[in-house]
Amino acid sequence: MAGVMRGKILLIEDNEHNRYLLTFLLTQHGYEVVVAESGPEGIAIASTMAPALVLLDIQLPGMDGYAVARELRLQEALTDTVVVAVTSYAMPGDREKALEAGCTGYIEKPIDPETFILEMERIVQTARGIA
Ligand code: MN
Repeated sequence: MAGVMRGKILLIEDNEHNRYLLTFLLTQHGYEVVVAESGPEGIAIASTMAPALVLLDIQLPGMDGYAVARELRLQEALTDTVVVAVTSYAMPGDREKALEAGCTGYIEKPIDPETFILEMERIVQTARGIA
């Protein structure tokens, strides 16, 4: 298990290539990953597994990531869960929109295998006040 975080990661991502890439990267760094392919599936899984961290794609069919983040924040069991938006939206204001919806932080796509884990861990550390 990597140093900065205990517990499982829930990955909510509809794109198969990104699911594969992120699962590979996270597993390689010692993290345990559970995958959901849609917002409703992710919310259902989160309510039973109480993940330490949720990696949340914003561009999801049907229920988008902002709506998913808001739903996750309604669950008391997820108070300490770090929610990181992972999105290719590069419009001004999208970061603020993600934070307003309840996300802890924001990582831009395309996913860079060289930096993704560090960026993710930095957001966790900042959230825990140990940066
Ligand atoms: Mn997507």
